[in-house]
Amino acid sequence: MTSDDFRAAAHTAADLAADHLAGLAAGPVWQPMDDAARRTLLDAPLPAAGRPLDELLASVGRDVLPYPMGNGHPRFFGWVNSAPAPAGVLATLAAAAMNPSSAGGDHADVHLERAVVRWIAELVGFPHPPGGGLLTSGTSMATIVCLAAARNRAARAAGWDVREDGLAGMPPLVGYVTGETHSCVRKAAELLGLGSKHLRAVAAGPDGRLDPAALRAAIARDRAAGLLPFLVVASAGTVGTGAVDAFDPIADLCAEERLWLHVDGAYGAFGVLDPEIAHRYAGLARADSLALDPHKWLGVPVDCGCALVRDPAELRAAFSLVPSYLRDEAAGELGWFSEYGTEQTRPFRALKVWATIAHRGRDGLAADIARTTALARRLGELVTADPELELLAEVQTSIVAFRLRPADPTGRTDEAEEAALDALNRDIPAAVQRRGRAFLTGARLDGREILRACLLNPATTEEDLEVLLAEVKAAGCEHTG
Ligand SMILES: *Cc1c(COP(=O)(O)O)cnc(C)c1O
Repeated sequence: MTSDDFRAAAHTAADLAADHLAGLAAGPVWQPMDDAARRTLLDAPLPAAGRPLDELLASVGRDVLPYPMGNGHPRFFGWVNSAPAPAGVLATLAAAAMNPSSAGGDHADVHLERAVVRWIAELVGFPHPPGGGLLTSGTSMATIVCLAAARNRAARAAGWDVREDGLAGMPPLVGYVTGETHSCVRKAAELLGLGSKHLRAVAAGPDGRLDPAALRAAIARDRAAGLLPFLVVASAGTVGTGAVDAFDPIADLCAEERLWLHVDGAYGAFGVLDPEIAHRYAGLARADSLALDPHKWLGVPVDCGCALVRDPAELRAAFSLVPSYLRDEAAGELGWFSEYGTEQTRPFRALKVWATIAHRGRDGLAADIARTTALARRLGELVTADPELELLAEVQTSIVAFRLRPADPTGRTDEAEEAALDALNRDIPAAVQRRGRAFLTGARLDGREILRACLLNPATTEEDLEVLLAEVKAAGCEHTG
């Protein structure tokens, strides 16, 4: 390919991306793909002969871009998925053009990753010794990285070398979570050989926050049974309600009991940038590790998670392996990123992080985040003011947990009414999604079916919130006929 051919195609690609982004808000948030469009992708035959770039770009414009997940739209409130930051979108092209393996050495991507990991730590106020973190595919991977370090430290303290001996024969290591802890923690515990039955779900208070007294009692019970408590996972924003744990009392207890405190900040850690809610994060900096997702509230294009640890030596102790073919003086004192995590060849994620943060600046990001938390509180008010809706949790960050609760004139028992409300609210998210004017998802909370709206997009307006609630009600009418 000539460089002129590449340049022309790149301009077309830029136009496609710009048209896509510019057109999003006017279209449906999401729509089911029609069968022919789906089959075009599913059944695509392996091409024997190549096709010119302009044809491929035409296919992308016709067969791919018109069928998004919906998360670029200002009325997307599902799960925890953000619209892409435009600066981050642009950076992906330059990063791919360089295509380094950000493993280590003396090239721009490696130094930029060290800088943006420090920026991320500074944004959330977490300590950052050199080497104390790395970018990952997401928080699922960052959690595996952090929990491996926690596991190995605890085993070492018990006279056990997990890397050499494995876990067999060792008294079980026990970790503490809550019922609202993200599934990636259990997955990490399973993969790390800890066993999910050794993750204890500790009671949370009515505010959804981990109860330190219940935690203390659980630790005492496990110690008395000869088990080895080693880990507490606290949340800087749960998926269900956006609850932020009270870190200080948990950190006190962890210090006293010599447990590793890990904080899952995937969704919520960046909420600390909003002065209005920053107080909720007091004590976050005392954690031993923090996993968080620039690809959520910051809008860095997927994928980008980040693992931060207080003591970089713990990561290196868990992961460092430098075979002779990887010896490299240029890697410097900190060595390779692969000595701190699972991957060897690593993508150049740092450029899109750099672009996203540098474009908005800390102040711009803080303003964006403050806007979404204010919108979430506003949505909470709208829900509270509406007799047919019920707010189910205090709005602590930017997630609103609520349900549709139409007046019940039938005089049913509470139990029958709850069952009917569960059936109704269980069906609403899919119905809202199909209608195409807004997108939200559901969850179970304290045994009830709930609706949850996650506000991440600063382009969302108050009018969008009203549309969302109108759509929830319209979907409810579909349910009852
Ligand atoms: C998204 C999320 C995770 C998982 O992170 P991935 O980036 O999807 O791997 C974990 N915990 C919370 C609270 C999340 O919102």
